[in-house]
Amino acid sequence: MNFLVIGSGGREHALCWAIAASPLCDALYCAPGNAGIAREAECLPDLGAEDLDGILAFARDNAIDLVVVGPEAPLCAGLVDRLETVGIRAFGPSAAAARIEGSKGFMKDLCAKYGVQTAAYARFTDPEAAKAHVRAQPGRVVVKADGLASGKGVLIPETLDEAVAAIDMAMVEGVFGTAGAEIVVEEFMEGEEASFFALVDGRTAVPFGTARDHKRAGDGDTGPNTGGMGAYSPAPMVDEAMGERIMREIIDPVVQGLAAEGAPYKGVLYAGLMLTAAGPKVIEFNCRLGDPEAQVLLPRLQSDLIPAMFAARDGVLDQFDLRWYDDAAVCVVMASMGYPGSYAKGTEIKGLDSLSGLLDVITFHAGTSGEDGRILATGGRVLGITGIGDTIAEAATRAYEAVDRIDWPEGFCRRDIAARELG
Ligand code: AMP
Repeated sequence: MNFLVIGSGGREHALCWAIAASPLCDALYCAPGNAGIAREAECLPDLGAEDLDGILAFARDNAIDLVVVGPEAPLCAGLVDRLETVGIRAFGPSAAAARIEGSKGFMKDLCAKYGVQTAAYARFTDPEAAKAHVRAQPGRVVVKADGLASGKGVLIPETLDEAVAAIDMAMVEGVFGTAGAEIVVEEFMEGEEASFFALVDGRTAVPFGTARDHKRAGDGDTGPNTGGMGAYSPAPMVDEAMGERIMREIIDPVVQGLAAEGAPYKGVLYAGLMLTAAGPKVIEFNCRLGDPEAQVLLPRLQSDLIPAMFAARDGVLDQFDLRWYDDAAVCVVMASMGYPGSYAKGTEIKGLDSLSGLLDVITFHAGTSGEDGRILATGGRVLGITGIGDTIAEAATRAYEAVDRIDWPEGFCRRDIAARELG
């Protein structure tokens, strides 16, 4: 069978890595891909992830059996709908279902309607009304752009003055562009954060692993928010009982709710959760695998990913069984110095060859290009080095040993990924 993966980041490299490993895969393409993905797939550098017409034409002309969409933007723009309408099978939610990520207001209303616990909230299109609301709140608030903002549309003010300034930033200064024209103001929740993933076929959901990510750029969770500087899986605080509770109280009602709303969800549903004293509560939903969570989840998946994706797409997950390795995985992201601010492009990364002999280490590329046999950094987040081990500690040690072999003076990484689990 022939596959086309959409996207160019570490998540898409992990998807290509898993698909290429399957005996069911004959041909694998990635649009647009990157220098690391080129080892697993034929990259299509001129076909952008948001070029819906181009993707449709390529899939038709190359007899693609399944298009696997990595990022949220093409999902929210309706890529899966467009493909399925012309008879091309695709893995991922429809635009209507992807609104669970594309509109925070939609997500919050859905949770309220179907009894799913999430932070108390209010939606605003008028900054003055939003400010009056925060002044009336007894505790801290969080200010979120309604629309897609590359995972960065969340402001966490510490004081009332900062909260008012945050509303101005989003709605008046427009720092999130049109995504911030509407905002959600919600209650600040205390607790441990965890990410919970489910594979969903429209009606049935099966657990697809747990993870924790590290969003801030600096060690000790300091510095600006990023797309994610590392992750590990499993998330130890989500034990079996908590996993069952999350399925029962959060995933299943949301999946049934979306079906009842006429927007059945298919694909990977990613719940960002706060484990509060009053139980698990939703921080956000994403309509796809996370990045870098995919780089720790997929190496732990023992089952072939391809039949799992088809079962989700075909609506037969109720007859499906997924197997996982017991091992832990830790991914350390290496980024260009300066990220998430401005950074130099085109710096050379050396030493990657020395990683190929390491057992239990996988090198995922996020923002690289190849030139005359050299690997150049072209993005903010550039590499994701995943270590596998019996324990999180062993996996982290392996990941950092590999990181230390990489010769890239213009890059940096956090030195404390998964450290909180190491005592
Ligand atoms: P999001 O993009 O919605 O996941 O938010 C980014 C980060 O902001 C989360 O990972 C949390 O650390 C934090 N956050 C978001 N909403 C809340 C909330 N209501 N209470 C506390 N922290 C939050």
